[in-house]
Amino acid sequence: MSTIIPLAAVLGHPIAHSRSPQLHGHWLARYGIAGHYVPIDVSPGNLDDVIRTLPKLGFVGVNVTIPHKEAVLGLADLVTDRATLIGAANTLIFRKDGKIHADNTDGYGFIQNIRQGAPDWQPKAGPALVLGAGGAARAIIASLLDVGVPKLVLANRTRIKAEKLQADFGKRVEVIDWIQVGNQIEDAHTIVNTTSLGMVGHPELRVPLDGLRPGQLVTDLVYAPLHTRLLVEAAAAGCTTVDGLGMLLHQAVPAFERWFGQRPEVDDQLRAAVLK
Ligand code: NAP
Repeated sequence: MSTIIPLAAVLGHPIAHSRSPQLHGHWLARYGIAGHYVPIDVSPGNLDDVIRTLPKLGFVGVNVTIPHKEAVLGLADLVTDRATLIGAANTLIFRKDGKIHADNTDGYGFIQNIRQGAPDWQPKAGPALVLGAGGAARAIIASLLDVGVPKLVLANRTRIKAEKLQADFGKRVEVIDWIQVGNQIEDAHTIVNTTSLGMVGHPELRVPLDGLRPGQLVTDLVYAPLHTRLLVEAAAAGCTTVDGLGMLLHQAVPAFERWFGQRPEVDDQLRAAVLK
């Protein structure tokens, strides 16, 4: 009798930059699991064919990243409530009965990362200020509302995109102009950058940060560099800071567990393996 070796992958276009193979590869080695996780470059026109073929080749599931996160919802047989709410999925599970299950674990990863990095964080203690209304922002907003932030102030350079999110997520979301961000910092209990500003190769996040103060939780989705200007200034002002790498690591936990049958640990060894 032959042993089945479980396979998983990340599908994107492009995909060479993805750190998910290092991440899952580290866990596979650590837990002695005879599986493989590979990056596959899939153009949008081939997505349907590839997803229908992979289960026949021994794949137990895949991560999906840009530009496929929305399109996979239409290919799945079952979509979790949180993926429906967010309007995108990052994880597919190919079930033994042939059904494709889509989930979005980005918000879970975001919250778990803060809980691990700042165990005293009380999301209900005050308003959250969220910068950005791009693809990542939807999962962040959904998860912050889910853990009970009383108010979520949302600012985006293109205001209409923030207003669209407000229409989708309801009255706890309040939209402000991008130029007003500096004035809102002091009143925020939780501050999150979901824009690409501050990332290597992108412009710096240049909003006035003099309202930062001790007691605030500040986190950045950007993790290249790990210590963004926002996080450096927040730490200098006495805020609690959490970097963005942990979100990437934690979002992978539920998928790895479902595919390979082992709940993996997020720890310093994993961080070092992914940063290598
Ligand atoms: P996206 O959909 O392209 O959205 C980009 C966001 O940045 C939009 O809100 C955009 O505003 C804003 N922005 C870009 N240039 C700007 C500028 N010059 N001035 C002001 N705002 C600007 O990207 P995404 O998928 O949401 O990703 C955003 C960042 O999060 C990326 O750095 C990504 O690597 C990171 N991320 C990290 C994780 C993690 O696990 N840590 C997960 C997902 C994403 P407009 O709407 O006005 O264009």
